[in-house]
Amino acid sequence: MTQQNTVVAQMRQLIQILAKHNHAYYVMDQPTIEDSEYDQLFHQLKALEAQYPEFVQPDTPTKTVGGKPLSKFANVTHAVPMLSLGNVFNEEDLYAFARRAEERLPNQKIEYDVELKFDGLAISLWYEHGVLVRGVTRGDGETGEDITQNVKTIRNLPKVLSSEKTAVPELLEVRGEVLMPKAGFEKLNAENEAKGEKTFANPRNAAAGSLRQLDPAIAASRPLAFYAYGIAQCEPPHGQNTMSASLEWLTQFGFAVGERHFICDNIQDVQAAYEQINTERPNLSVEIDGMVIKVNDLKQQQTLGFLSREPRWATAYKFPAVAALTTVENIDWQVGRTGTLTPVARLNPVAVGGVTVSNVTLHNIGEIHRLDVRIGDTVSVYRSGDVIPKVEKVWPEFRPEGAAEVHLPECCPVCSSPVVMPEGEALARCSGGLYCAAQRIEAIRHFVSRKAMDIEGLGDRWAESLLHLDLLKDVADIYSLHEHRDQLLTIEKMGEKSVQNLIDSIENSKKTTLAAFIYALGIRGVGETTARMLANTFQTFDAIRNADLDALKKTPDVGDITAEWIVDFFQAPHNLEVVDRLLAAGIHWDAPVAPTRQPLNGESWVVTGTLSTMGRDEATQQLQALGARVSGSVSSKTKCVVAGEKAGSKLDKAEKLGIPVMNEQQFLEFLQQY
Ligand code: NAD
Repeated sequence: MTQQNTVVAQMRQLIQILAKHNHAYYVMDQPTIEDSEYDQLFHQLKALEAQYPEFVQPDTPTKTVGGKPLSKFANVTHAVPMLSLGNVFNEEDLYAFARRAEERLPNQKIEYDVELKFDGLAISLWYEHGVLVRGVTRGDGETGEDITQNVKTIRNLPKVLSSEKTAVPELLEVRGEVLMPKAGFEKLNAENEAKGEKTFANPRNAAAGSLRQLDPAIAASRPLAFYAYGIAQCEPPHGQNTMSASLEWLTQFGFAVGERHFICDNIQDVQAAYEQINTERPNLSVEIDGMVIKVNDLKQQQTLGFLSREPRWATAYKFPAVAALTTVENIDWQVGRTGTLTPVARLNPVAVGGVTVSNVTLHNIGEIHRLDVRIGDTVSVYRSGDVIPKVEKVWPEFRPEGAAEVHLPECCPVCSSPVVMPEGEALARCSGGLYCAAQRIEAIRHFVSRKAMDIEGLGDRWAESLLHLDLLKDVADIYSLHEHRDQLLTIEKMGEKSVQNLIDSIENSKKTTLAAFIYALGIRGVGETTARMLANTFQTFDAIRNADLDALKKTPDVGDITAEWIVDFFQAPHNLEVVDRLLAAGIHWDAPVAPTRQPLNGESWVVTGTLSTMGRDEATQQLQALGARVSGSVSSKTKCVVAGEKAGSKLDKAEKLGIPVMNEQQFLEFLQQY
């Protein structure tokens, strides 16, 4: 393709996309992308046109305003065209705007009028001898729609002008924006929702949709308001010299103007006003999408004049984008501390929601497939307020040729163990639980915890120091720590005594139970109860390690998915290597109580409230020793509830379901039987 062909193809593609969204926004009042995304595409086209002016297409939207007027209304040609505004998005652009104005007004002091940029629908109001005779939409800037009947229903808009101080002009054309203030918008949406009717996506759509109804009764029922921001014509002239004074002049006839307004001596103050309003924005009564910066002096405005679709004396300064387009440079898989694999899109850095975003999580493989996002794709990244940035949409029209579908990796990117994803699960995991470096700290924390190997003194801080010293590559290394006494003593706050305590505590942990050992391995889905059930059912570690899926599924408390996880765990050679080293270090236990001797085998119990003679943990252990499964919630399957003092909702539920309840005294007597 020649360069001309490529550039023209790019321009045509952007024009086509923008035309589609213009229609949705201006004609249907139902945009499908964020304004900031639209602005970005619009600026891409403008930049291309600036670089290749010779290829500018005749139907480019950069030279036109708004959308074609709807034929269902009478069309009216504007006596003075209703233009758009150029826009700036950051401080640098703002200064460039000011510099351009200064260059055309040499040696003149420029004052700026800074107004709210209302996010509504622009209209023109025509008053003859003080009477409102016509209201017209902006349309394509040259011709708009006659919506006089609807406009007359707007309550805060003067239908007849009068002032005690000033004579009413013979002709007055006021320009401004029709909006639905936030409170009215929320009320309308709540009412519509209650009636099962359509709700509006935002106040702008609600206002535009209400004004462009053929039936004025509908517009009348909607909470619309008009805010003036300029005078297009006035006969005889109003005599004001500045933008701000002319707006003030309008208020005496009853016109509403923005609730915040600044007059700034220099462009630095304009920036400060913009920042202030950006923070005050949530508290304003109306929705705004930025500020409008205008040269205040009306004579200076005249000197500056217009540039195609926008004045040179004003610009919109938009608030940070909530959505922006960028490209996906790569997709990496991160392994979390529990082995979960999370895909992360590495982006071409883009400013969105006031920060630069270069990485964004894609959550899981299902989300990748749902979005069909590929490396090289153009995507929209969304971020609003504190919300974590996310990929909202993929633009297939910009996809590079040959961009391949993304698949789940077969091996863990950190330790190369197989990646597993049981059916019906959303998350994929690395199966190298005990071996994988990404999962080390979590594996250690779990392994040493009280209900697992119960190694006191190996808290997070020390565990991390040991990881840094490379003394703990996996949990089996815990049992060789005594060989590194000198290195242990170099750790901050580790004295002789604490080192000895740690070594003793490690030594003591070697005598354990099969259930605690199984639990300590941190196999996914295998909590304390499941570990106990496995120990009781299989009796030996080898039997558990070699158990097949069917045998595991038959074990009480082991669901189908957990059974798969257990098999996956014992199939990963790296895990087996660590397990063998643990056993070789001397971890041992007494044979578990045979299940036949357990009187509460298979029963589900619940302990709730405060017991005065023992903690809930102890009561749980006693019940488990008798073979019961102790659950955190009451259901119809619960065999009995042990209720201490201040037992709450669980006791209520047990009573409701007719489940037997024991108080503490009864429970103690019950235990004594065994
Ligand atoms: P604009 O909204 O960026 O700015 C011009 C308009 O600002 C004026 O016409 C006027 O009505 C309004 N305005 C509000 N407060 C004002 C004030 N105090 N003083 C002067 N004017 C004030 O430009 P536009 O041409 O109306 O619309 C283009 C914009 O519409 C785009 O930048 C985009 O944000 C949005 N748009 C979005 C989509 C979409 O699909 N999401 C499609 C088309 C357009």
